[in-house]
Amino acid sequence: MNVASYKTISAIQQDIESGIVSVEQLVSAYLQNINKQKHLNVFLEVFENEALEQAKALDEKHKTGGKKGKLFGVVIALKDNICYKNHKVSASSRILEGFTAIYSATVVERLLKEDAIIIGRTNCDEFAMGSSNENSAFGTVLNAADNTRVSGGSSGGSAVAVQANLCHVALGSDTGGSIRQPAAFTGTVGLKPTYGSVSRYGLIAYASSFDQIGPITHSVEDAALVTQIMAGKDEFDSTTSSKSVEVADFSKPVQPSKIAILGTMVENDALQPEVKQTTANFIEELKAKGNTVETVEFTYLDYLIPAYYALTTAEASSNLARFDGVHYGFRSSNATDMESVYKKSRTEGFGREVKNRIMLGTFVLSAGYYDAYYAQAQKVRRLLRDGIKKILENYDFILLPATPTTAFKIGEKTTNPVEMYLADIFTVLANLTGNPALVFPIGKDNEQMPIGIQLIGGHFKEKELMEFAAGV
Ligand code: GLN
Repeated sequence: MNVASYKTISAIQQDIESGIVSVEQLVSAYLQNINKQKHLNVFLEVFENEALEQAKALDEKHKTGGKKGKLFGVVIALKDNICYKNHKVSASSRILEGFTAIYSATVVERLLKEDAIIIGRTNCDEFAMGSSNENSAFGTVLNAADNTRVSGGSSGGSAVAVQANLCHVALGSDTGGSIRQPAAFTGTVGLKPTYGSVSRYGLIAYASSFDQIGPITHSVEDAALVTQIMAGKDEFDSTTSSKSVEVADFSKPVQPSKIAILGTMVENDALQPEVKQTTANFIEELKAKGNTVETVEFTYLDYLIPAYYALTTAEASSNLARFDGVHYGFRSSNATDMESVYKKSRTEGFGREVKNRIMLGTFVLSAGYYDAYYAQAQKVRRLLRDGIKKILENYDFILLPATPTTAFKIGEKTTNPVEMYLADIFTVLANLTGNPALVFPIGKDNEQMPIGIQLIGGHFKEKELMEFAAGV
């Protein structure tokens, strides 16, 4: 059977309902694809037997007429920074070697409750720090559209898992673009939900005031459904809001909307020509369909990346202090006393990029530099938040490119961290402001690499955002 033909959850469920396919057949087909595509380096672990067992139990439920959950038969992969009870989780880091989760993330509980099947954990950049999946302790994930190119990061494994039909939906986490940037690079759909809409309980923290879990899917409809199921108040994460994400209704025609473009972002010279052209064409299409698209002034482009890296590294330096060789996973065998347990375990356990960021974060938080960097960056964050809020008082959505270029070559940016950081220039904004942001494919470049576009909506306006995106 060909699982690649399933673009939506409802198509899968219709076929299960009418007996065309069983859940076990579906899971077996994904497992076969995984085996055939091992070179992509997507999965760190496949829960083969368990997924088959789950499938059999669901087929039994179908036969006996039991009540089916909303994700009945949906095969889902988890980024390797989301905890699943009694399963290994490593954030693609050596420092978590041998660590097994003792509880499940709230999102995992909610998916399982709706009869989803978890098929495995996917490779990612170490502690979700990266834009190309080249920072994983377990090697680079290859883009399925061209194996010499990166998958994007940090949720590269999750994006390629969907791109290559190794599962139907994958979860990623997005601190500065880690769902949306790899989605753009792989021609998939990626949503970073509103900050506070999806529980972070059970997500290995990178930068807690930025991190959100979200879906990578083939369709906007699926992203809406999965998000709606995951979202909502959670007593284990006090930053979750009591506002829930409303159910999107894709049956009615979309109303013309008012869309803002930020300053020179769309005409920027840093954009790859095909990205620029495809984006311009898309804007023309939106106008032709009766939408209003206007450019608004936005002068903060140059501050996005510096503010993002000052704040996220600060939070990371604090969050990653817990990996000390004592509490979790790896402990250096070269340690001789208490201090060397810390030093050597962290030296040997963390990769280079993670160490860079811990040092940068410690620096911006240090007594002498706190005001100059951390406090300044917080002020920039406030300006951005107020600025975007103001724009969204007059417009329904903000449109911007997902990425400046399509997927680049493996190794192309590894020697130049600043260039690598600029791969996120268009995605970090929504994490700095907390707004929901969706990326979906709008075309391909001359080398047949996917091009994505990004839409940002108002806080907790996922419903409107998804309905509009599905309709255009
Ligand atoms: N690439 C960005 C970074 O390295 C974003 C990472 C993310 O969203 N987790 O920080």
